[in-house]
Amino acid sequence: MKTRPGLGEKLASVMLIIVWAVDNMVGALNNVAKKSYCNRFYYMFDSHAHVAFEQFDNDRRRVVKRAYEAGVNSWIEVGSDVNNSRRAVGLANKIEGVYAAVGVHPDNITGLNSGKWTEIRVLLEEDKVKAVGEVGLDYYRGGSFEEQASVLSDFIKVANDFNLPMIFHVRSGEDRDAHEDLLSLLNSLGGRGTPRGVIHMFGGSLEQAKKYVDSGMYLGISGIVTFKNAGSLVEVAREIPLENILVETDCPYVAPEPHRGERNEPAYVKLVVEKVAEIKGSDVAVVERVTEKNACDLFNLEA
Ligand SMILES: [Zn+2]
Repeated sequence: MKTRPGLGEKLASVMLIIVWAVDNMVGALNNVAKKSYCNRFYYMFDSHAHVAFEQFDNDRRRVVKRAYEAGVNSWIEVGSDVNNSRRAVGLANKIEGVYAAVGVHPDNITGLNSGKWTEIRVLLEEDKVKAVGEVGLDYYRGGSFEEQASVLSDFIKVANDFNLPMIFHVRSGEDRDAHEDLLSLLNSLGGRGTPRGVIHMFGGSLEQAKKYVDSGMYLGISGIVTFKNAGSLVEVAREIPLENILVETDCPYVAPEPHRGERNEPAYVKLVVEKVAEIKGSDVAVVERVTEKNACDLFNLEA
């Protein structure tokens, strides 16, 4: 007489199969995680943050914890002068998933002497430094185009020397359009001298956005896109392919709705992602994944 397997035996073999499948899945997940910091299953990447700034001195650890809890496990910690670039590198060296950019904001270029340039080059040698920035053109406070353009050209050369992408800060004044100046500066370089990069906190027109994208730039979409008076930025977010978009906070500044006016932090990049998804009529998960992949591509973060 043949014996049929009892219920207990059946259950045991089903359990074995489940254990085997889960084990395989965990193995696969581990492999992916080991291979790269990128594309780790729908995490978000804040492409522009200043967590090393003094606004976070009292609660930096909690801010970092909230970022992780919100699913923002990577960001670029951006310097805007030599001192805070050094602090950005220090923070990146301390926190897994945080990378640094070294640069001097156009408002801070006075006194940029050869000693400071040497310091910049030393910082750019660091492993966790993944970009030159923020650098660029800002006429809002009436800076001179000639001086800013000359420093920017030097930074472009340095970025090419170190083979690093750039984070551009571009802000127009009342009577001069900084985007037009940057576009013609990039055009004048032609071919091999053109750096890769992102136009951080993009605020130009749709036409300018298209020109940047044609020259291979990414556009940084910030919390401004959540504002009632976001203006043409909504159109830009709708029309520009997701493959050319990075998301950012620029914290501690420009917190997205509903936190407008408060101190911003990396966790809030989720609100930018959600708004971009709403504007594009796509899945939040898709916007998370693609913008994270874009950041990893631009900042060369494959392990
Ligand atoms: Zn910034």
